Amino acid sequence: DNDMKTLNIYKRQFKEINKQMDGNVILAGPCAVESYEQMSKVAQCISRHSLKYIRGGAYKPRTSPYSFQGLGKEGLHILKAVCDEYNLIGVTEILDIRDLDDIQSCVDILQVGARNMYNYPLLKELGKLKKTVLLKRGFMSTYKELMLAAEYILNNGNDNIIICERGIRTFETSTRNTLDLSIVALIKEDTEIPVIVDLSHSLGRKDIIVPMAKASVAAGANGLMVEVHPNPDKALSDQKQQLSINEFENVLKNLKL
Ligand code: PEP
Ligand code: MN
Repeated sequence: DNDMKTLNIYKRQFKEINKQMDGNVILAGPCAVESYEQMSKVAQCISRHSLKYIRGGAYKPRTSPYSFQGLGKEGLHILKAVCDEYNLIGVTEILDIRDLDDIQSCVDILQVGARNMYNYPLLKELGKLKKTVLLKRGFMSTYKELMLAAEYILNNGNDNIIICERGIRTFETSTRNTLDLSIVALIKEDTEIPVIVDLSHSLGRKDIIVPMAKASVAAGANGLMVEVHPNPDKALSDQKQQLSINEFENVLKNLKL
């Protein structure tokens, strides 16, 4: 609608972040940081394929309070150690603004998870930073709500933003969420903001990663996120959707990366 087009997000060119995202943007890594050994195995694989980014949650937004909540600061330090060792860019989720200093000192890209897309005080604080913010779409949010959430970050002075489609809730249960590729095409049609697709949390399964990765790129995605764990069966979270190192390498081969 007309009011929307007056937003800054439609006018901005996002030159710096688009430049940073040149090349093959694959954000791979486990759901959660579990140990140095786990992270270094994934980092080795990422660097072997000349990819640049590694993800891993230190603070995990788990549905159940009884599930593994992440290693916290220890997880951040592990992530920083492997980033330094393998020269990678680290991505991790910020749940609570009180963790900002710890997180900022360990990683380059701060992720706002789907559950926090509506956390406006958090978005405003992240808008005051220079660091890149990876803003995930809430699982019940509309295109307009997503653009307005990005606008909160933008209006506070930070235009290093990446938007991430991670699936929305529908009646369909064959996939964990329904990957909404229309929103990727729409955002790319309307704005210059970089968009990535999180295949793992969208699909919740591994068998259709390759076709959906290709579809994401065809829809205009600038990059992909996938969960990779050296031993998915033993993972402390999201076991069913995390690719093993071998499976990840097969995906890369299929995508010709
Ligand atoms: C994640 O990427 O680790 C995550 C929790 O995803 P989402 O916020 O999309 O559920
Ligand atoms: Mn996960």
